[in-house]
Amino acid sequence: MSAEAAAGDGRPSRYESQKRRDWNTFGQYLRNHRPPLELARCSGAHVLEFLRYLDQFGKTKVHAAGCPFFGLLCPPGPCPCPLRQAWGSLDALVGRLRAAFEENGGRPEANPFGARAVRLYLREVRDSQAKARGIVYEKKKRKRPPPLPPTDGDAVREADAGGTIGAGQYGHMMIPGGGSGQFAGDGEAQTGPMFPLSVFH
Ligand SMILES: [Zn+2]
Repeated sequence: MSAEAAAGDGRPSRYESQKRRDWNTFGQYLRNHRPPLELARCSGAHVLEFLRYLDQFGKTKVHAAGCPFFGLLCPPGPCPCPLRQAWGSLDALVGRLRAAFEENGGRPEANPFGARAVRLYLREVRDSQAKARGIVYEKKKRKRPPPLPPTDGDAVREADAGGTIGAGQYGHMMIPGGGSGQFAGDGEAQTGPMFPLSVFH
């Protein structure tokens, strides 16, 4: 059905397979929803519910306003703040699901992933996470953190203490198939400032 998927040598790209996986996950979420939810009845509010549900699987430490590490890019120790989905991965996910919705026969004007409430929510997540984690999004993103050079025992201790925090710090770049580079469908997103277009339209 999808032209892209059938193109070329028949092997779906990483973006395409990630999109398919996301779409299946969302379908599963709808089937397990209580009360049951049909795709056709899905609204932006349901998408927000889904995004909040995903937070429990998040790997990004987001400091609460009362945490002494609030606003620190490299917190010096562990803290009990919750792990969440990083803005970058939610944003990429919504972009893929938005495309998948229309590829699966959904009408663009009824696309719940393009709803205003979803855009506003993503913007809010982005701003609050940037504040909590001391992130400046204007910085050029790296694909992945550089490998740690094997050194003495200190490095081990540090890696241990910083486990969750370190993961959180770069969490928004480690989502498989995620990251702004995956907005291939949007094209402009790669050269745009810091928002994929899907956030603005
Ligand atoms: Zn904290």
